[in-house]
Amino acid sequence: MSVNELLTYEIIPQEIPSVIRNCSKCKRDTAFYCSEKFRVNANQKMVDVWVVYNCTHCEGTWNFPILSRVHVNKINAETYSKFMNNDKETIWYYAFQFNHLRKLCNEVNTTIRYELREERLESKTNHLTIRFSCKHDFGLRIDKLLAEILGISRSNLIELERNGMIRLNPNINIKKKIMDNLQVTICELL
Ligand SMILES: [Zn+2]
Repeated sequence: MSVNELLTYEIIPQEIPSVIRNCSKCKRDTAFYCSEKFRVNANQKMVDVWVVYNCTHCEGTWNFPILSRVHVNKINAETYSKFMNNDKETIWYYAFQFNHLRKLCNEVNTTIRYELREERLESKTNHLTIRFSCKHDFGLRIDKLLAEILGISRSNLIELERNGMIRLNPNINIKKKIMDNLQVTICELL
């Protein structure tokens, strides 16, 4: 890798996190996958919306609650139509709400396959700067991803960081998870 580069990486998950919870048909904890469908129920102007998950063993259903007893007038028409049309972006948005899912499930799978979309730009400095963009937070750690991109071991990476060769902006711990717009500068060693 040469110097004088600015790289941007967009982190694109390739799958929706599965969850583990009790299946009433299997009568035990099983993995549920996301069906990528909403279920919308309107009852006298009160609306419920769920994202539908299915048991990987018996296809039994679990409904992940999104809206509960909300008056139809309080939901904007555009959003409502996204629910009705199983808008993929909207489903993915909810399916990556880990804190919400964790409250309702025993476990949420965070080992998500992802693709890195790389873009190379010219830079005037003689450092390598990497900027990350990620729309869906799935707990991917900075050190893991950086080691993967730079093709070095995680311990080498930590060593470089300790020696001040790697700077993060904002200045967060390298073992924390990737955040949108994180910028990493690597001093001229590569
Ligand atoms: Zn089941």
